Amino acid sequence: MLFGKKPGYDPDYDLKLEESLAKNVYPRAKMEAARAADHTSLCAQVCTPEVWDKYKDTLSTGPAKWTLARAINSGVMYPESFVGCHVGDRQSYDDFKDFFYPVIEKYHTGFSMEKGFSLKGTPCERMDPDKITVDLCDSAKDKIASTRIRVARNLSMFPLNPGGSRKSREDIAGLMAKVYARIRSDSDLAGAFFLHTDMSNEKRQELIDDHFLFRGKDRMQAASGYHEHWPHGRGVYLNNNKTFINWVNEGDHLRIISMEMGGDVRAVFERLSAGAKAIEDGVRAITGVDEVFMMHPKFGAVTCCPSNIGTGMRGSVHIMVPKLIQKIGFEEIDRLCRARNCQARGSTGEHSEVVDRIDVSNWRRIGLPEYTLVEDMICCANFLAAEEDKISG
Ligand code: ADP
Ligand code: MG
Repeated sequence: MLFGKKPGYDPDYDLKLEESLAKNVYPRAKMEAARAADHTSLCAQVCTPEVWDKYKDTLSTGPAKWTLARAINSGVMYPESFVGCHVGDRQSYDDFKDFFYPVIEKYHTGFSMEKGFSLKGTPCERMDPDKITVDLCDSAKDKIASTRIRVARNLSMFPLNPGGSRKSREDIAGLMAKVYARIRSDSDLAGAFFLHTDMSNEKRQELIDDHFLFRGKDRMQAASGYHEHWPHGRGVYLNNNKTFINWVNEGDHLRIISMEMGGDVRAVFERLSAGAKAIEDGVRAITGVDEVFMMHPKFGAVTCCPSNIGTGMRGSVHIMVPKLIQKIGFEEIDRLCRARNCQARGSTGEHSEVVDRIDVSNWRRIGLPEYTLVEDMICCANFLAAEEDKISG
């Protein structure tokens, strides 16, 4: 039984600090091993003993009172992470700047925290399909099972979830229920909001299997504190066609998602723009807060994981390339994608197995307009389709 769980520690959901970090001691042996390994997370690359000593007793100035030990826990526990660190509030990015700024610059290659960036227009204005200058080729279209573009957003009036409480999560879900209730019933975005606490296990699994809902039970997410107080305050909003979806309190407060079967990237992008605007306007109308989404003057949208900051946008297609998977394997496909400013994920999302399809998405998220990031993804999908077509048999 998932709900009414407790007492006792639940490794699938509860936060556990790595044993040195729990004593606020630098995990020297693990960090040295991580730096000597072939793959070193950004967390281990940047959190040297000097950086640790500088910040080990610092508390963030925001509501989370975040610490460096909390920030690096997932990376220390899981050296295979790519990034391996999280913030608990917006202020953490600056309060631990000698740690987070290099992490940001290493992930978002070419971006400078000193210079920051400025983009013209609002994010919704930049989600304009007419600004996309490339198209999927026919071969790619034939291979694409579905398209999904999402933006990660956090609400400026709450702490980020890794630094939040059961109450902050429930308050967010309560606010969002009011926002969804305002969406006009004759709109394409109209639908219903489901809370995890009310959902049957069968319904939840069905939504997960159809890629509409987050899975939970991700050990890296548990180590970041994303899953704390599970399932309280977690929910999903689905429009009637299941093409406009919001995840509430998975990790970030909101994942605003537009998705549909097939490869009509422009239609998906356009719906995302309208949906993100409807959510922003709705929260503003209810709270009276002008800057609804948490923003940072240097990089834009604030997210828990440094990989998502900036636009917070990940646009993906699920592309069927079984021969390529068989021939060169996932790691090599990912390497090819990375050379094209994209990344590959497994068939059911990050950290999942590859079965028959690859999730290919933009890897850059910062300093570039949203339509350019979609173009990255389209070009990479065209490339993978052509590689698949080259393989006979
Ligand atoms: P996110 O970047 O939004 O956190 P994840 O990698 O965690 O994405 O995946 C979340 C869910 O979205 C998974 O169920 C995944 O299979 C699904 N998903 C991602 N891209 C697509 C797509 N193009 N079509 C269908 N489902 C998708
Ligand atoms: Mg995810």
